[in-house]
Amino acid sequence: MRSDPERLRFEIAARDGAARAGVLHTAHGPVTTPAFIPLATRATVRSLESSEVEGLGYELVLGNTFHLLLAPGPERIAELGGLHEFMGWRRAIITDSGGFQIFSLAHGAVADEIKGRRRRETEGKVLEVSEDGVRFRSYVDGTERTLGPEGSMEVQAALGSDIALVLDECTPFHAEREYTARSTERTHRWLDRCLEWHERNGPSRQALFGIVQGGVHEDLRRASAERVAAAAIDGIAIGGTLGRDKPEMYGVLDMTLPHLPADAPKHLLGIGEPDDLMQGIRRGIDVFDCAVPTRLGRHGMALAPLPEQRFRFDVRRASYAEDTGPLVEGCPCPACREHTRAYLHYLSRAEELTGARLITLHNLTFVERLVAGAGEAIAAGEYERYAEAILAGRAPWEARELTAG
Ligand SMILES: [Zn+2]
Repeated sequence: MRSDPERLRFEIAARDGAARAGVLHTAHGPVTTPAFIPLATRATVRSLESSEVEGLGYELVLGNTFHLLLAPGPERIAELGGLHEFMGWRRAIITDSGGFQIFSLAHGAVADEIKGRRRRETEGKVLEVSEDGVRFRSYVDGTERTLGPEGSMEVQAALGSDIALVLDECTPFHAEREYTARSTERTHRWLDRCLEWHERNGPSRQALFGIVQGGVHEDLRRASAERVAAAAIDGIAIGGTLGRDKPEMYGVLDMTLPHLPADAPKHLLGIGEPDDLMQGIRRGIDVFDCAVPTRLGRHGMALAPLPEQRFRFDVRRASYAEDTGPLVEGCPCPACREHTRAYLHYLSRAEELTGARLITLHNLTFVERLVAGAGEAIAAGEYERYAEAILAGRAPWEARELTAG
């Protein structure tokens, strides 16, 4: 690990068991942790304005290197002042490396596997994976493109994110152990190449996170954790397929986290359902990104304190057609303060943009309250009670009240 406060400084203000609450100081201001990171995949948190996302309490969003590479292209974004300026976002930005999207194409939808979805046809096509990177066909214009470790760093430098992620290969859990071992080795060699490029050419204030891989294998995870922690990085992300179900995913965290430096900021990639947030924070994860709150919002699904229903319900269901209650009682979001389930039911069924917007606002509010409550509970030494209340079906604001002392 390196320590350069000009790039990133992580201050842990409180600990409760393995859980911690703190502040990540980035070139674009502080990020209070634990934090959830909304996806701004194509330079927008879909359906929301940047100022609205900030207004919900978010201090960090995630931009997607793969999609922004293909359109509008890093050169244009750089010409227009970088990603912050381009999308009118004043706070911090993290960019992923593009690896996850590309390897999703190569491995028959790793993304679907991780998210527990059925496989479906993906757009675009991977032509070759080699030591130098990945050759693939663009889904935008059909041209052949290559992305390697240096290229990924170059794109992220042009975007000007506050935190960049190194290029890694995201292996599916059904991959042979042998393949996962070789792939993890290559990820480590790519880590060195990313660091070398970044050292010479990267923006001086851009922090760099390494990524731990190793599939579901304890020895590979441990070796990867130690290798990544020994590199000159500013923080650590845990990536890859984390298992076929949630207990296996928590098991992968348990076999990885003890081998990482206690004081390093830790990012769990692509995971962020309410129970995962509680379990991840409990184990010492500081930041999470996940498509779930925003994607569900576009499909009429509202997050709610319903553990038996994966913390969500479908407002399009007929039973909500005349329901005059809010999405979730006590929720401070605009959808819940101003509107009924009946209205959101109608908007979602009619596929009105306002419906997608309102439920996205609700879902991001719900998750923001959830992680903010977790941070307050950690500071009060009440994290376990807070997490138990959430997992038992309390809303974040109710769980917070229960643990307020
Ligand atoms: Zn709400």
